[in-house]
Amino acid sequence: MGKHSKLSPSSSDRWLTCTASVEFSKGISSRSSSYANEGTDAHREAEQLLSTYKLENLPEEEVEKGKEGVVEYYKFLQAFKNLEYKIESRVTYYKDQGGTADFIAYDRKNGHLHVVDFKYGQFIKVDAVDNNQMRLYSSGALEIYPDARCITVHVVQPRMSNINGWTISREEIEVFRQHVIRKVTEIETGVVEFRASDKACMFCPSKHKCTHYREETKRKLISSFND
Ligand code: SF4
Repeated sequence: MGKHSKLSPSSSDRWLTCTASVEFSKGISSRSSSYANEGTDAHREAEQLLSTYKLENLPEEEVEKGKEGVVEYYKFLQAFKNLEYKIESRVTYYKDQGGTADFIAYDRKNGHLHVVDFKYGQFIKVDAVDNNQMRLYSSGALEIYPDARCITVHVVQPRMSNINGWTISREEIEVFRQHVIRKVTEIETGVVEFRASDKACMFCPSKHKCTHYREETKRKLISSFND
């Protein structure tokens, strides 16, 4: 997997909502868990298989020794084998801000772009619909394939038997991109606000020291008692 930028697609649910969290979290690294390391290993293995076998059928020994979920991911991608495609591709959505898209395929005949994200987690189900991370990858992928007219984003999460997709027009991505540019500009110029929410705070590295998070948690607790 590629290097993470400060405003990475994977943390976009946080910084698009709580713009103050970027400066507030400066210098605090997200702790690397054994789950994250497992995911990194699985991505590495998938990349190796894709580079070696180029979406042709896998030899039986690779299927047998493959890490849980990796072979399922590979098999899903075989549907794109007749299209132009890129593996682990660096995409930027604004200036130098971006991330690494696991897999991008382009159907030039129909102007249809596919952006695939391999999720290795087995506890939180990821939905492609309204997914900011996938919107940002799509925005970056459109820089590579500017003639694309629509984009389907796919989440492949084999360890939860979860494969789902969402189709968006390039116009919708453009509207979203303008929203992102406004947020990035606010962050860069320091015109920021704290805004706690379930999605924003879930993986925030600063929540242990955040009074806004504590207040929001208390408010929700009180409201649950009053219901
Ligand atoms: S814990 Fe929530 S409110 Fe606090 S900085 Fe992080 S995202 Fe913002």
